[in-house]
Amino acid sequence: MENKLTIYNTLTRKKELFEALNPPHVGMYVCGPTVYGDPHLGHARPAITFDILFRYLQHLGYKVRYVRNITDVGHLEHDADEGEDKIAKKARLEQLEPMEVVQYYTLRYHKAMEMLNVLPPSIEPHASGHIIEQIELVKQILDNGYAYESQGSIYFDVNKYNKDHHYGILSGRNLDDVLNTTRELDGQEEKHNPADFALWKKAQPEHIMRWPSPWSNGFPGWHCECTAMGRKYLGERFDIHGGGMDLIFPHHECEIAQAVASQGHDIVHYWMHNNMITINGQKMGKSLGNFITLNEFFTGQNPNLKQAYSPMTIRFFILMAHYRGTVDFSNDALQAAEKAMSRLMEAYNAIGRIQPSAESSVSVSEFKGKCYEAMDDDLNTPIVISHLFDAAKVINQAVDGNAKLTASDVAELKSLFDTFLFDILGIKAEEGGGSGREEAFGKVVDMLLEQRAIAKANKDWATSDKIRNELTALGFEIKDTKDGATWKLNR
Ligand SMILES: [Zn+2]
Repeated sequence: MENKLTIYNTLTRKKELFEALNPPHVGMYVCGPTVYGDPHLGHARPAITFDILFRYLQHLGYKVRYVRNITDVGHLEHDADEGEDKIAKKARLEQLEPMEVVQYYTLRYHKAMEMLNVLPPSIEPHASGHIIEQIELVKQILDNGYAYESQGSIYFDVNKYNKDHHYGILSGRNLDDVLNTTRELDGQEEKHNPADFALWKKAQPEHIMRWPSPWSNGFPGWHCECTAMGRKYLGERFDIHGGGMDLIFPHHECEIAQAVASQGHDIVHYWMHNNMITINGQKMGKSLGNFITLNEFFTGQNPNLKQAYSPMTIRFFILMAHYRGTVDFSNDALQAAEKAMSRLMEAYNAIGRIQPSAESSVSVSEFKGKCYEAMDDDLNTPIVISHLFDAAKVINQAVDGNAKLTASDVAELKSLFDTFLFDILGIKAEEGGGSGREEAFGKVVDMLLEQRAIAKANKDWATSDKIRNELTALGFEIKDTKDGATWKLNR
């Protein structure tokens, strides 16, 4: 399949032309949430980034199998090999079954994603439902000599692996760098080397989430699930693996090592990573305690928020930055996003009010090409948005009678917005303050202007002036052109 899409591959550190391994099929795996708390702004970014890719690949004609997992076991505190399981800890604190915690927060996550207009993935596997596949993976790595047993737990032998392959290939580290950063954190006596990581952990007596295995009653290491489930649903080689930049090391580095150690080669063709959302320059995260949940954004119920922000405002805010750039949260930035989005929505809703002319005084034919060019350039959504603003300007000029457009150019502008703003960027009209309501208000203004035209035709100047003056007082600017009256709302 021909396309011009280039994506930045973290593995090769450059933009590459996207070539599917098995067109028209595309396999895409993205690390999903660890479901032990409400989804926050940090969860919205990877979900929206890879939703854009999912939508765009489908728009280009690919049949995409998108797998996004739910981590419900094995993710220990501080992403370490020691400490309590994040889900189990929450269950203990709230006196719930771990699976009650998982169910509750999975549903909350789904609800928030739906509000953000993030399309559901094709498959959403749970780590706890794939223990057998993970044990199988650990067995293969043991058989190939890249892991060892220690007191009922299995560890990946990083030293041994690094002699045959490069541990650190994705993050650009070498084993010495890794040792320098991990020595102080871990240093448990079960490991041969501090850089080794757990593939299977023997459960301590108090640990409630446990499964039988050939080595002990225990649970899989955090990195196993994505390798095992990616392979199960997408095969031994698939196209795209994505996630947040914070997952490059150790999570994705370990996934590569597990894949190579078990099957002799990496599974993934393109590794893609979105940048983080910061708050006052610091990463926003549950473990850092500085996060704002998506629900708090939607309701405005957080001391750091000056107002509520609609789901589409959050989505638009995220898309105003390129996915590999940082986004720093602030009320000002969100308010700017809200205004910018409503300007685009207003322009879209005004398209129906353009009186078509016999010929166009401005050219609209390049807009689509430019938007495709921006999307093909590693999903450059801020550039797409800037082209939509240029198109909105043309729409407003035509509504005001300052530009002429043919009927087919008007249709072209509508199709531009339908394709890029709605289908690809995934923005939708919101009820209550959103554009659906504005469209209805707009139709009321149109009706009043029709009544004014009838009054004028009947030389009923008192009524026609009254309608005009009252609309003006409300902030509407009414212009009489030879094709009838046009309006816009100044505020
Ligand atoms: Zn993962």
